[in-house]
Order: sequence, then C-alpha cells, then structure tokens
Amino acid sequence: MQILKSISEVLEFRKNCTGSVGFVPTMGALHAGHASLIKKSVEQNDNTIVSIFVNPTQFLPGEDLDKYPRNEVGDTKICELCGASAVFFPDANEMYGKDEPLILAPKELSSSLEGALRPGHFDGVCRVLNKFFNIIRPDRAYFGKKDAQQLTIIQNMVKNFFMNLEIVPCEIVRESDGLALSSRNSYLGDDELCYALKLSRSIMKASNLIKANELNALKIKAAMSECLEPLKVDYVAIVNRNFEPIENVELGNTIILVAAYVGKTRLIDNLWV
Ligand code: AMP
Repeated sequence: MQILKSISEVLEFRKNCTGSVGFVPTMGALHAGHASLIKKSVEQNDNTIVSIFVNPTQFLPGEDLDKYPRNEVGDTKICELCGASAVFFPDANEMYGKDEPLILAPKELSSSLEGALRPGHFDGVCRVLNKFFNIIRPDRAYFGKKDAQQLTIIQNMVKNFFMNLEIVPCEIVRESDGLALSSRNSYLGDDELCYALKLSRSIMKASNLIKANELNALKIKAAMSECLEPLKVDYVAIVNRNFEPIENVELGNTIILVAAYVGKTRLIDNLWV
C-alpha cells in the first residue's frame, strides 16, 4: 500500500492504475464503519484509494476541528489490513487556494436538519469532494448511510454536475449494543456511553413501531423523544428521500433521523425505511 502526501503523488499513482478505481473519503480515526466502506471498495474495484483529511471547510467556528481525533499510524494500518492500494493524507494548504470559485450545496437539501444547525457545513463537504473527485477521478466513491443528508447531497451533486462516477451507499455499522460507530464516540466517557445508547434505542423504537404498522410521523417522533430523555435533542425528524418532512412513513421512501448531545458530544443516527 502506498502512502501519498501530495496531489502530484496522487496524480502519478492514478496514472499508473489499471482497471477501476474506488475512493473512500474519510476524516480518519478509522473504525469498523470506515473499514466496511474500504472493504466494499476493495471487493468492487481493482484499486482503492482512501483519503484521510480533517477538512477545515466543513467545520464551523467553535466546532471540534482542533480536537478532532487524529491517528495517522493506526489509520494507515487499518487501510492496509482492509486491502487499500493507497492512502492519501492531503495538506490543507495544498488543497485550498486563496480565491476559489464558490461551490455550494443544493439549497433545498442543505437548508434543514444538519444544514440548518451547521450552516455552511455541506458547502465545505461539496467543495472538498469536488477537489477529491477531480484529483482521483474514481469510478466509484463510497459513503455511509450514517450521514444520510450528506449522502443525499453528494448524490444530487454528482447527478447535476454530470460527474462520471457512481456513488455507493453503505449500511450503518453498529456496536453489538446498537450504538452507531463514530469517530466522535471517542469523546464519550464511560458514564456517558449509556446515554449515547438512547439515540440507537430511539431509532429501534421507531423501527418496531413501523413493524407494528404505526406509520404516523407525529406518534413515532413522540415515542422517540421519550426514549431520548433527558438528552438535549437537536432534532427528531421523519422525511422522504428528498429530505422533505412527511406526515406518514412511506415504506421505501423514508429516513428517520435524530441528532442529540451527550454531554458536550453531538451524535447523529438514522434509519432508512
Ligand atoms: P467521517 O470520517 O466521519 O467523515 O466518515 C467517512 C465516511 O464513513 C462517511 O461516508 C461516513 O458516512 C462513513 N461512516 C462513518 N461512520 C459510519 C458507520 N458507523 N457505518 C457506516 N459508515 C460510516
């Protein structure tokens, strides 16, 4: 596995790739969720490039950019074990110029939920992925359903800018107790883990209600809110795949989302129905 530190090294590596190229963008502090994306790419492509970049433009002032967990050695090992061909550690100064054309996330998809609470976040995501897609020119790129709104925005961007790659959505990987894996789980103290479980429990509650044929969004959200007490909840939402709020769950076209704080740590989870 090659370790690439500059854009010219990536371009050189890409030039020598034969067959298909899969790309897995990450912010590092890799866990089994990331590993599942990398393994899927390795299965489906002749070459897999993983990027590890805590992208400054997707963090808002006051967010955890500086303290976001970083583990270059451990991440490199995981990429290698998963069978990646190369790992790219970009340099922020090389990635960003001074006077760049604006790349913005589509307004309708990015003005609610994560986009409303983290204004500009998805613009930063679209901006960095544009750069990555141009540098790497992947045939396929892998994204977790864990970041449901991000995945939807990227699918929209790729479609509307006629980008020549396939976006491959990947299932959410969870701990055996249900907690969705996240690099930010490392912020949680032992005493906070049981509170973090309230997010996945609320999602499971929604899933069970739907299985019992309760499709009313207000009732499902009320039951979820009860499960989340006493956490500070940013939102409990039930939307269609265009991220428009809906009154009744439509099987095959619904996403149920939650964002809440456990202490100072903000966690998200969701369910695709
Ligand atoms: P991040 O490093 O948080 O930017 O995540 C990189 C990619 O991994 C994104 O596409 C995430 O949606 C995905 N991802 C993060 N956590 C999980 C998880 N628990 N299961 C599946 N994919 C995940």
